[in-house]
Amino acid sequence: MSSGRSAASAHSGRAKATRASQAKRKGAEPTGRTQHRALRSGTSLWSKVWGGGVPFGSLTGHIRADVVVVGAGISGALMANELTQLGCDVLILDRREPVHGSTLASSALLEFELDVPLHLLARRLGSARARRAYGRSLRSVERVAEIVRALHLRCGFEPRRSLYLAGDEHGHRALTAEVEARKRAGIGGRFLDAKALWHDYAIERTGAIESEGCAVVNPVQLAAGLLRRAIARGARVCSPADVRHVRSSRRRVQVETADGWIVDARSVVFCTGYELVEGLELPHHRVKSTWAVATRKVHAMPGWLSTTTVWEASDPYLYLRTTVDGRIIAGGEDVASSTMHTDARLLDAKAARLMDKIGALLPTLECELSHTWAGAFGESPTGLPLVDRVPGIPGAYLVAGFGGNGITHSVTAAEVVRGWIAGRTDPDAGLYRLPSGNG
Ligand SMILES: Cc1cc2nc3c(=O)[nH]c(=O)nc-3n(C[C@H](O)[C@H](O)[C@H](O)COP(=O)(O)OP(=O)(O)OC[C@H]3O[C@@H](n4cnc5c(N)ncnc54)[C@H](O)[C@@H]3O)c2cc1C
Repeated sequence: MSSGRSAASAHSGRAKATRASQAKRKGAEPTGRTQHRALRSGTSLWSKVWGGGVPFGSLTGHIRADVVVVGAGISGALMANELTQLGCDVLILDRREPVHGSTLASSALLEFELDVPLHLLARRLGSARARRAYGRSLRSVERVAEIVRALHLRCGFEPRRSLYLAGDEHGHRALTAEVEARKRAGIGGRFLDAKALWHDYAIERTGAIESEGCAVVNPVQLAAGLLRRAIARGARVCSPADVRHVRSSRRRVQVETADGWIVDARSVVFCTGYELVEGLELPHHRVKSTWAVATRKVHAMPGWLSTTTVWEASDPYLYLRTTVDGRIIAGGEDVASSTMHTDARLLDAKAARLMDKIGALLPTLECELSHTWAGAFGESPTGLPLVDRVPGIPGAYLVAGFGGNGITHSVTAAEVVRGWIAGRTDPDAGLYRLPSGNG
């Protein structure tokens, strides 16, 4: 995927830092290490896409930067985009090649609807906070559209209507309550009863919510395009560069890599996806396994399907979207294990199951399987991301987009962190704090 190892960075300086690497972890407090995990398996539809290359180089010495962004996935790319626009000298470090983490596995539906419906989120957070969370999510999808337009990114971005089908987790009564809650919050959405759903979509369910304001994208082209724009503004990308330790002193952070090189910076932002900063207390956040398939180009695709994403309120759930070249991507079948997605036999079984489910939902459609893949997938009790300062490391921030809205959350996170780095606090920052018990 890389378009080459251009000498991205790195001043010389041979003395390797040994002192920092010898530093011992104090209790469970974060030290800047992140987890290691298998992030994906199988062959994602985006594995070999045009425009996925990002120039990167090696870190070969101690260097300075304004901000170090750890992680060159969609979160790191959005962060680098915001921070270079702010005028920061940004260095992006990744232990893998750029855009080779979870972003490569994403189905990339940009839904404003969170994993937890608004009327239920209101019970957990209170109405005002839940409404703010939904409003922000809606604006973040709009923000992706603005960014894509402003930067002229060719990334398969297309606005979509969303159809949220009643299922075994939330039936038609819950969906009616949801539409009412959205109305009170000024958020659109129309309830379709079984008859209307059959008439408009030929889908047999007890009801659905139809809403505007969602979108789809090619996540690799989006992330790579953002990284290339950030590089054009002076950002540097180094890979492989595994961040092992971060220390703070005198309003600076020292970010140390596995090779012993130190980057001296004002701030560091962990955009490390599901490889979380170690030492955080997250008793209710889970990393599980999820599966996805892509079909070959579908002939005689119903018109509505090319402009609508579909997902169901069931456990296990099914979601589907179409691509600009007329394929269907479907996914779901989640299992509560962070490693099961690496099981090759399960990959085939889950792909067959997803294809069966597409057939059951849309029986007139003729689809042929083309790609099968799987990945780790984070879940949070509220469906909201974590965006916060790293406890115990002044100058360090973290972003972790849990839930089915990982990409949309990364947009919000980039704005929140940009605010902190510019000396402002985003009015919604309190929604995304680490649970109490941290720092
Ligand atoms: C099958 C599947 C379907 C999905 N569908 C959707 C969807 O439809 N919509 C949606 O919004 N989201 C979806 N998601 C979630 C979404 O893909 C993720 O939220 C998003 O890609 C996370 O991006 P990221 O940049 O945070 O993480 P990543 O893309 O994983 O990037 C993080 C990077 O950090 C690097 N890293 C970690 N630790 C270190 C370290 N110590 N030093 C250096 N580098 C480090 C990793 O190598 C990695 O490249 C899906 C996920 C999967 C697996």
